[in-house]
Amino acid sequence: MNIAIIGGGMSGIVAAITASKNKNNNITIYERQKDIASKILITGNGKCNICNSRVSEKRHYSSFETDRLDTISKNFDANKLIDFFKGLGLSLKERDGYYYPVSNQARSVYAVLSNVLKKASVKVITDKYIDKIVVNPEGYTIDGKNYDAVVLAVGGRAGIYKENAFSGRELIKSLELKSSRTFPALTGAVCVGDYKTLKGVRVDAGIKLYADGKLVAEDTGELQFADYGLSGIPVFNLSSHVPYDYKEAYFEVDLFPKNTEEELKNMLSDIKAMYPKYRAINALAGFTNINILKYALSMAGIHEDKLMENVADKDLESLALWCKKSKHHMERLRDYRNAQIMAGGILLSEIDDNYMCIHHKNLYITGEALDLNGECGGYNLYFAFESGYEVGQKLAK
Ligand SMILES: Cc1cc2nc3c(=O)[nH]c(=O)nc-3n(C[C@H](O)[C@H](O)[C@H](O)COP(=O)(O)OP(=O)(O)OC[C@H]3O[C@@H](n4cnc5c(N)ncnc54)[C@H](O)[C@@H]3O)c2cc1C
Repeated sequence: MNIAIIGGGMSGIVAAITASKNKNNNITIYERQKDIASKILITGNGKCNICNSRVSEKRHYSSFETDRLDTISKNFDANKLIDFFKGLGLSLKERDGYYYPVSNQARSVYAVLSNVLKKASVKVITDKYIDKIVVNPEGYTIDGKNYDAVVLAVGGRAGIYKENAFSGRELIKSLELKSSRTFPALTGAVCVGDYKTLKGVRVDAGIKLYADGKLVAEDTGELQFADYGLSGIPVFNLSSHVPYDYKEAYFEVDLFPKNTEEELKNMLSDIKAMYPKYRAINALAGFTNINILKYALSMAGIHEDKLMENVADKDLESLALWCKKSKHHMERLRDYRNAQIMAGGILLSEIDDNYMCIHHKNLYITGEALDLNGECGGYNLYFAFESGYEVGQKLAK
């Protein structure tokens, strides 16, 4: 078969390597950037969190079409990826279920994939922007060449710093594929208010996302405050769940997930009894992070210099309540440049269970271009791998 792969990211490269097992296949990757795998290099802060031992648990993924998500994800298996990379000479290590290359460098993943493409004689054409796929009775024509099969592995806009860098959209349109809304996800939330005091604070928290008065999703983990609002893995995960047409959304943050509100109230009145003559900011120094304390005191209407004996019990109750249920109104999610994924994409109902487009024979769609999003933790690279691998297997038969 003559096979064209549009996009040299994780899913396109894995599809090429796997399909090359059949020596009769001639494979060409078209990549619009100067080099392939550029996104892999920036993943996991340069360490590449490539997989997670929990990839088979469906609760880590979301899609506009939940029914299709169930069928597509039924064969997800971390061992498939681990064995694949072991076979290429890349060892992985695991910590708390998160997989990384043993080198702790995304560069190792890039290097191994590049080497194997060369060894497998896959033709890689970089700096080549494909804006049209001509569908004809025998197959497809791309850039004047004919192909029997095409893999659309165009990814998404996240992490791309150039305007209009996502070129998959024109191809998707020309093939008349249906898509859901796309938006930046696994990203921070710009919130209303002044977060300068809290900037840089990291704290284990429970976080709930509410939109138009309804609880949409919740997560726990290390919350990070930034000068624009909220960040950190639990906020990233919740960002994928912001509803399309929300009018008003906020995060409710529990800064003491292990304590009840009642326990916090008791802790605060014990401190008041212990240090009646101390200023609030000093008396409560052991209660929480100093920056959180300053912010929380002001939100509860307690001046930080007030002596504890003069702080009304109802104000301490407000402080306890703020620590358990502070509201952070969302202005917007951060943009694609600051996001890990593009949520949404080509509808899963546009493909069959083998990632083949239901409208075009031998045209496959893989990776982030599809409306299937994983949480933070290796789930997105895994899906890019999984879909590329399954298509490659099919093309190798
Ligand atoms: C900063 C950052 C950190 C991340 N960290 C992690 C992590 O640690 N773990 C994890 O699981 N996920 C992580 N992700 C997400 C993960 O990188 C992506 O979900 C995954 O790489 C998607 O792979 P893909 O092959 O589907 O698409 P991509 O990697 O986006 O590849 C698509 C390729 O297609 C090319 N292309 C597009 N259109 C055309 C065209 N018309 N013609 C030619 N070429 C075209 C693009 O230039 C691109 O190289 C991170 C993402 C970012 C941005």
